[in-house]
Parts: sequence; structure tokens; C-alpha cells
Amino acid sequence: MKELRVATSVRLAAILLGTSFGMSALALADDRPRGPEEDGTKPALTRIAGEGFMNSHAYKYLTELSDDVGARVTGSAADRKAAEWASAKMKAIGLENVHLEKYTIWKGWTRGTAEAQLLSPTPHKLHVDAMGWTGSTVAGGAEGDVVPVNLFDIDEEVKNVARLKGKIALVTQKGQPKKSFMMLFAAFGDFLKAAHEAGVIAVIGGQGGAKSTGMNLTHTGILGFDVDYAIPVVSMTAEDQGQLERFINRGITPRVRINVQNTLTSGPAETANVVGEIRGREHPEEIFVVGGHLDSWDLAQGTTDNGSGTATTLGAAEAIMRSGQKPRRTIRFVLFTGEEQGLDGSFAYYKQHQSEWANHLGNLILDEGQGPVTDFMLGGRDDLIAAFQPFADSLANIRPIKVNDNVESGTDTLPFSIYGLPGINMNQETKDYMYTHHSAADALEAQKPDVLTQNATLMALTAYWIADRPERFATPWPAERTAKMLRQKGEFEELKAFKIWPYGNLGEEPDKK
Ligand SMILES: [Zn+2]
Repeated sequence: MKELRVATSVRLAAILLGTSFGMSALALADDRPRGPEEDGTKPALTRIAGEGFMNSHAYKYLTELSDDVGARVTGSAADRKAAEWASAKMKAIGLENVHLEKYTIWKGWTRGTAEAQLLSPTPHKLHVDAMGWTGSTVAGGAEGDVVPVNLFDIDEEVKNVARLKGKIALVTQKGQPKKSFMMLFAAFGDFLKAAHEAGVIAVIGGQGGAKSTGMNLTHTGILGFDVDYAIPVVSMTAEDQGQLERFINRGITPRVRINVQNTLTSGPAETANVVGEIRGREHPEEIFVVGGHLDSWDLAQGTTDNGSGTATTLGAAEAIMRSGQKPRRTIRFVLFTGEEQGLDGSFAYYKQHQSEWANHLGNLILDEGQGPVTDFMLGGRDDLIAAFQPFADSLANIRPIKVNDNVESGTDTLPFSIYGLPGINMNQETKDYMYTHHSAADALEAQKPDVLTQNATLMALTAYWIADRPERFATPWPAERTAKMLRQKGEFEELKAFKIWPYGNLGEEPDKK
């Protein structure tokens, strides 16, 4: 049936071009990229779009995950409950080979209490929450002067850390940064280690030392790839932190009492990626991975980070299953855990599937919050833009979506980009995400059902088109080409700073040696 459709479209193209059949076949034999209109995938995509838009349960899945499963920190009992829920959904949707792929993260962590009071000059409660995988104050808490530390001068602060003994360090941002945000993020870890050794009571500062965004919200999160810190670090609301900064700027030293209690496990904690497949009809051994991350933070329900990606993935799988269409190659749906601790689930996936890496085509991830899709970021693979563009163009009646080869290093696309495959990020409009991200506002109220339905359908269409088009979409680049690309994309410094650069000197420009 498929072959017949291709032949028909070739003939149609010949008529439209006003050339002979032979001429047009020749034209199609060249490298000109073909979209769904010409490559035979359109009838299947049309059915999938119909199921995706008219028959979607993505919002129902997101509601269950948010309300009934709730927060699901990697390695916790809630993580196991979420995995059971997700595998049951995959089975109910009709995916094949549904199973858990276990791995361990270096340590587990449980949030306890975090309380702070401003004692002087104007006593009141301060709103704080602990950052993930950070430690505790002495039992019952401690009292100290609040002293500013300039994130933009963090290397100097590390050298002068002794002045902070017995104080509470408040991370501020003064002047111009001398490094990129990600480089500051990495350097902030060095500061936290030094501060603990110097006897600092606690540090007030969010991910990478960032300040909260407002609306009286705190934002938790990890402070590096696979790292824990013995010192208690808290995110404070922008409103409370702003007041402390104003006092300091006027020469008044605020005095604060702070009590933070968390628990780190002594050894590794077990978790699992949840996997299910639609097996390919012609090349089942060739695999395109589609997903989001199942784990979340714990100040709310984890709806937008990344319940939305989880529900999008399940909704996409369901739309393809209900359409009755079978792709040429296998679509493997993977709900990763450990994303929030340093992309641990997707790095574990790479390790566990290294032997079949050459058969992988890439992955497709949605993890930029609750908004509509704006870009397909092809994860460093500039060679794929021309092939992908006609597909993106075919979606124009749903949404205009741009195509570029940017690398997204903040989610499960990164291990795929690092190891030579297109880690494709479905970038989203994120204006409310700055509030819901890792905060107490990350609940179901933040996700509009119609946007979720559209995102799930777009994911289904993209996954199916990539897995089903006649020509294989991508093969892994060799290490040298990948290393060169990552350097050109400005990823080298950051990956090295976070100790996840795997290529040594590979890809280095000769004149820079
Ligand atoms: Zn996320």
C-alpha cells in the first residue's frame, strides 16, 4: 500500500512539474528533501493527527499524575509509585515490551523542614525551602548575621571564604558576570564546598546561586550533576531576599535564625526508566526514542516539570496506537527518571543501550514547561535541518514551528547530542514556567488542556514521521565530528566544568593546542 502511494505521488509531482515521469523520478532521486506530501507518510500522519486532536487522554493522564501520584523525587517511594503508574498506562495504551530499566543514582535525599526568621531589624518569618541534595544545620537551627557574597565574583569569594565563619551567606549579583551562567553554576559548587569547610551556617541562594523570580515563590533544584553538599542551601522568596539586600545596602546587618533538616542516604538509591515500544514493521532493530522525564521536585505536583512531558509522551503513544498505523522503524517511548539530579536516567539509558547505539536515530524530548511548541532544536546536527524542514512546514496549519540545530543541555536530549545523535528538543514558549519551575506553583492549574493536546499530537506526528519516512533520518556521528560540534556550540567548557566531557582533546582546533 505504502509503495503504491509513493508511486502515485511521484506521478502527481510529474504532472505538477509538467515533466515526463522519468524526468521527475530523476529529480526525486537527488538529495532534495521530501516532506510528508511526497514521502508517503501523509495518510498515516493524517490519521494520527485525528486521533491526537479528537481522542486525546493526555490531560487525563496529567491530572492523575499530578493529583494521585503527586511529587516524585528520584529514588523515593513516590518514584516507584510513579513508575508503576506509568508502566500501567503504557500497557493500557497497548505498547509492546513495557518494562522498567533499573539503575542507581549515587545517593538518595529526603526533604525535612526549612524555617527561617528575621530577628532584626524587623522580625518576621522568612520563606525558604532547601535546595535538593543539600545538608542540615545543627539540630534546632542556628543564628547568625547575614553577609552578602557576590556570585559574579565567586572565585574571589572562594579565596576569602574564612570571613564567613559563623555567618549566613546571602548570594547576590553585583556588577557584570565574568563567566556564562552555566560556568557560574559550576563555580558555585566550589564555593559551597569551601563555605562548609569554613564553618558557614547556611547559604541563601537558588540553582547556580540564582535569585527567585517573585510571587512569593521559592525554587528548589540540584546544584550540579550528581552532587550533594553537606552545607544547607536554601532558596528564599525574591520578596524576602530583596528586603535583606536593601538592609545590607543601607549598612544594616540583618540577623537571622535558620533551621534546615534534610536526610541523605549513606549509599546509592535505586530508580528506573519506564520503557514501552511500537515495534517497527520493516526495521524493528532501528530505534527512535521519544519521551520526557517522570521524576519531579517535591514542593508541588510536578505538573509542568515534567508531568507535561510525561503526559505528552503517553498522549503521543496513544494517538499512534489508536490510528492503527505501524511505523517502518521502532518508536521507543522512554520516561526517564533522575533528570533533576543531572540527567541520570538518560545517561543510564546510553550506558545500558551502548551496544545498539548504532541502530538509534536520536531522541525527541519535551521538557520546557507548559507552553506551546516554538522550535525543533536538532541538537547539534546541522546536517539534518534540510531534511527536517519540509516536515516542519507540513505542520504550518497547526502551528508555525522553527527548525535549528541548537543543543539543549538542560534535559535528556544532552546524552544523545553528546554521543553523536540528534537530541531533538521541542522548545516551548515558557513565560509562566519561570514561576512554576521547581516551585510550589507547579500544579495542574498551570497547564492548559488544549496546549497539552496540541503538544502531544505534534510529538506523535514528529515521532512517526521520523520513524516511518523511507530514508533513515540519522546515524550517529563519529566521536571526532561530535566533539568538534560540541566545541563549536560552546558546550565544551560547561561539560568539562561539570565533569561530563567524554572526549579529552578530541575536536580541538590545532592552533589552540
Ligand atoms: Zn524538567
